[in-house]
Amino acid sequence: MITVEALRKSFGDKEIIKGIDMKVNRGEKVVIIGPSGSGKSTFLRCLNYLEIPTSGSVMIESHKFDDPTKKMNEKHIASIRAEVGMVFQRFNLFPNKTAIQNVMAALITIRKMDKEQAQKLAEKYLHKVGLGERMHHYPSQLSGGQQQRVAIARALAMQPKVMLFDEATSALDPELVGEVLQVIRELAEEGMTMILVTHEMKFAREVADRVIFMDGGVIVEEGTPEEVFVHPKHPRTRAFLQKVEH
Ligand code: ADP
Ligand code: MG
Repeated sequence: MITVEALRKSFGDKEIIKGIDMKVNRGEKVVIIGPSGSGKSTFLRCLNYLEIPTSGSVMIESHKFDDPTKKMNEKHIASIRAEVGMVFQRFNLFPNKTAIQNVMAALITIRKMDKEQAQKLAEKYLHKVGLGERMHHYPSQLSGGQQQRVAIARALAMQPKVMLFDEATSALDPELVGEVLQVIRELAEEGMTMILVTHEMKFAREVADRVIFMDGGVIVEEGTPEEVFVHPKHPRTRAFLQKVEH
């Protein structure tokens, strides 16, 4: 489903992603762990063209991007982004729109749905994340966990082929983390292809088919949760795991 080859990304003269190769199969759950500043977010952002790679290639389904000098047209970028749903640490909901209006917005502007169609789909996905009762609430009337679930519903309503989660629970109060992880867990069980960056090591062990440890812009080590968490081979992986609870 996803093939990344020799991916590099620099900001100015600072290289952040230093050559990453990765394949993700349909239905696979890949968890990326690693210290802050190691390039995890930049890597995810390269996968849906929020960042344009400096070199290398990213292929998602049949969309291939391998020439950074070639200016991709907006339509092509939009078609790739539509395949890749992304959920961030910060939910970025429109404060002046209700939950359902937030979910409907992109369906109307990007998917070109009429209002009725968009509303049906938005209701379906808000029910799915357990917010059927709150769909006419504004973000300020929702808890952080509920807002993040709206953000997940918004991404799912676009019916992406892949979901990327970038520390989706890091900004939440501890008692709200569980309800968001539960929604992600259900998606995983339904067979969604997912790449997750998370500091929730227990959760990572539970949902991951494969764990990738990233440091300094490269993949240092990867394997099953058992291999990476229980029998890490690389000293950098061991040092990282000693510092975090798992
Ligand atoms: P992580 O998610 O692993 O914490 P990031 O991908 O956010 O790491 O950041 C890796 C490095 O890239 C950091 O040093 C950060 O300052 C730098 N960086 C990220 N985005 C930009 C940008 N738009 N411009 C310049 N530097 C950036
Ligand atoms: Mg990050």
